[in-house]
Amino acid sequence: MFALRDKRIWVAGHRGMVGSALVRRLEREACTVLTASHAELDLRDQAATRAFVLANRPDAVILAAATVGGILANDSFPAHFLYNNMMIAANVVHAAYEAGVSKLLYLGSSCIYPKFAPQPIPEAALLTGELEPTNQWYAIAKIAGLKLTEAYRRQYGCDFIAAMPTNLYGRGDNFDLAAGHVLPALLRKAHEAKLAGAAEIVIWGTGTPRREFLHVDDCAEACIHLMQHYSDFGHVNVGSGEDVTILELTERVCAVVGFKGRIVNDLSKPDGTPRKLMAADKIRALGWGPRIGLDDGIRDAYHWFQHDLSQAARGAA
Ligand code: GDP
Repeated sequence: MFALRDKRIWVAGHRGMVGSALVRRLEREACTVLTASHAELDLRDQAATRAFVLANRPDAVILAAATVGGILANDSFPAHFLYNNMMIAANVVHAAYEAGVSKLLYLGSSCIYPKFAPQPIPEAALLTGELEPTNQWYAIAKIAGLKLTEAYRRQYGCDFIAAMPTNLYGRGDNFDLAAGHVLPALLRKAHEAKLAGAAEIVIWGTGTPRREFLHVDDCAEACIHLMQHYSDFGHVNVGSGEDVTILELTERVCAVVGFKGRIVNDLSKPDGTPRKLMAADKIRALGWGPRIGLDDGIRDAYHWFQHDLSQAARGAA
């Protein structure tokens, strides 16, 4: 059991969707949360990262910083996704080791698993087959980060652990159509189509791939649970345990938004991996389970999307 009380906890990547959910969750604990904005600290810069950690002396680190994006962004900027994420992982993990950090949680992603992994995907499926080509760059960097935590645990006895969340969504998501993931993109498309009185919305690919979704507040809860209760080799999947087809997801998003038009497929866009459901047995056995169902989660994400829109409009006025 790692107690958070009176600890200094650095959330690296606190402006991101996961990092900001972690900061909100940690506000309920009697601990001090450390953060550094991108302008203050570029995590790709080894000397700067080392100096920050040595100067601030966190007791624990949650590494939620990453260059992230949806299927098209990953496919378009391979160097960006591979280089940035490898540098961030190497610099933060090594600096944490040098500063004697007591606990580190590294956050990966479900795309680390082979394209044709057995479903639901057990943790043991890692490195048993070829990756999905569209996001292999990001995946390779995330696998390297995960292995770094294991290597530092093995060689130096550091209490570094790794969690692999499934597709996350919620407050602070990226609603940009080109760069974002499917759920925020669909919310935006349905919202704009409803306002414009459009007859249809266009989704990418066939609509048949299956994806699992977890609300980011559930993910933050899982991360804190793992920080407190998990200390071992081997990463832990963090998922809801359920998946839906992209078409079903679209219908549920449209129902929440109130868009009643048709759903049309753009078959020039990639489907990506056919299915990505993670086995959740390990984290369930550790005593964590999700609390936010998909429809409630979509409603919450839609609320924050509208909130962001009105903030942006106020800023522009
Ligand atoms: P992935 O889970 O790494 O494949 O990333 P995404 O969340 O970007 O895409 C998931 C699935 O949703 C893929 O099959 C996409 O083709 C499909 N999809 C359908 N419409 C959209 C859309 O408007 N944006 C995105 N990003 N994906 C979409």
